[in-house]
Amino acid sequence: MISFGCKLNYAETSAIRHQLEEAGFTVAASDQIPDYVIINTCAVTSQAEKDARKAIRRVHRLFPSAKIVVTGCYAQLRPEELAEQPGVIAVFGNTAKGQIASFLSSHPEDCTTHLFVSDPDGFYQAATAPEDSRTRAFLKVQDGCDYKCSYCTIPKARGKSRGMAIEEVLQHIEALEQAGYPEVVLTGINLGDYRDPQNRKFFQLLQAIEAMRPGLRVRISSIEPNLVTESIVSLIAQSSVFCPHFHLPLQSGSPAILRRMRRRYTVETYRQKVSMILEAMPNCAIGVDVIVGFPGETEEHFQQTYEFLESLPVAYLHVFSYSERSGTDAALFPNKVPAEEKKRRSQLLRRLSEQKRQAFAQRFVGQTLEWIPEQYDPQHGGWVGWTENYIRLFVPAPATLAHQRYAVRIHRRKAAQLVGDIAEPLTAPATVVQLPVVS
Ligand code: SF4
Repeated sequence: MISFGCKLNYAETSAIRHQLEEAGFTVAASDQIPDYVIINTCAVTSQAEKDARKAIRRVHRLFPSAKIVVTGCYAQLRPEELAEQPGVIAVFGNTAKGQIASFLSSHPEDCTTHLFVSDPDGFYQAATAPEDSRTRAFLKVQDGCDYKCSYCTIPKARGKSRGMAIEEVLQHIEALEQAGYPEVVLTGINLGDYRDPQNRKFFQLLQAIEAMRPGLRVRISSIEPNLVTESIVSLIAQSSVFCPHFHLPLQSGSPAILRRMRRRYTVETYRQKVSMILEAMPNCAIGVDVIVGFPGETEEHFQQTYEFLESLPVAYLHVFSYSERSGTDAALFPNKVPAEEKKRRSQLLRRLSEQKRQAFAQRFVGQTLEWIPEQYDPQHGGWVGWTENYIRLFVPAPATLAHQRYAVRIHRRKAAQLVGDIAEPLTAPATVVQLPVVS
């Protein structure tokens, strides 16, 4: 199975894998020729679509007999384009993802390519970790988006905003805790706009999770700034369950560009939200998404963005180059920014991001932070993982170290990474035995 795109897509890829295993399929070993290859695509940028086509061609070249099944946002938006690719026997839109296992179980041996694409609705449940992680599980609690950002094609691929019932979310968290995961990341397309079938909102979901007092820690993946409320911030500030970490998409620090992007906040509102969070939680990590090279972004607009970000006390930036998506309003906007200029602006912001990461990490040297080991580094004899406030932290420890929460004393910083020693375990050791089955 090959997965592209966001954490939500990865969670869905794992859910498809579970369904296939339940239907009797097994994952091919690296020296075996697979009968089927499932590719879960992304459509957020033209590069993501290019990567998906490249992956299909590569799979077909390596395993000419393998039957390729494609799904995901690209499949939802342009199924015919993917059906023409070599080796593809079926294309499933986002709503039809759950039917892949039953289709392959009764796969008709004809030569036609099957298309299963309808308007995106319903809720395909998905919860899991990337295959190589025994630390973080991604739980999809929300899908779709009702916003109309002028550059974005995702609402067409994912449909209207909708959420999983609060009771089901709690059941999934319990299952993930029992399976041994020390951290769950709540994911969605527009997570803060979560509304469950009983119209309960994101804050109510957080309250219910807090009241449940799970033994694992819970992280919120990304939330639109306009949806960050005082009640959400104060709940997280007082919580021992939620990580002090917000990821707030800004996209531009220029008021004119923000308006043309049709974002639902101003730069002043954004700054207020950052201040509100840091007043309640001074050690909270705030990450920022930013897009450079939006049509009509002049040097002056870019400078406004740069200076705004430079002045914000945030921990890191995720920088994206604007990618034109056909069918969006922004694709018709004049004054496109040349690729070279987008590259230059990206580089400047990436450098700023690195400075911010290092400055944020430096504040915690000499302190104790909560940490979960994620990946063993045999070369340096230790584990790399993330603190609750999202700083990369290396701890010298044996390969057998249990995947659980630890209090770690921080000794020093190496670039944007901290180095420390375990002070004490914070939870009982847990071993991941198997992934929870998603119904
Ligand atoms: S909030 Fe805007 S950018 Fe995000 S998915 Fe919705 S329309 Fe796209």
